[in-house]
Amino acid sequence: MVINEQPNTDRIWEWMKEVEDPEIPVLNVIDLGVVRKIGYEGETLVVTITPTYSGCPAMKTIEKDIAEVLEEYGVNNYRIETVLSPAWTTDWMSDEGKLKLHQVGIAPPVGHSADKSLLMGKIRTVRCPICGSEDTQMVSQFGSTACKALYKCENCLEPFDHFKCI
Ligand SMILES: [Zn+2]
Repeated sequence: MVINEQPNTDRIWEWMKEVEDPEIPVLNVIDLGVVRKIGYEGETLVVTITPTYSGCPAMKTIEKDIAEVLEEYGVNNYRIETVLSPAWTTDWMSDEGKLKLHQVGIAPPVGHSADKSLLMGKIRTVRCPICGSEDTQMVSQFGSTACKALYKCENCLEPFDHFKCI
């Protein structure tokens, strides 16, 4: 399919919602805040992305999926740029994204990545997504994927994943 006119970037932002996070498929790249910028450089569409975690193997998949969605909509002249600075933080995650995490039983990121409590070595309270109790404990640094930590709730005794704040 050949489209002669350049699709409006607003539409492309919408299309990007079809690109799921390979680690947490309920989230799309817009929820995650991975897509930073969409614009044209002359005839070329440039999609700028920032990886959630440098070295996160999921990013290659995300890049490929973005390319597939663009091509599906007939965009052939595009470039996907990866920008590492400023680094992605969980602050970029949309409220909708945080809500979706909660709905699948993953505790959403708490507070801001710049939160001083982390620097001062204090442990942040992570609320259990199942019963809401704050009496939780980290079981393992790594949950079902490297980007999540495994927690256990002392109240309802359910284990749950917590999306790590960086
Ligand atoms: Zn609980």
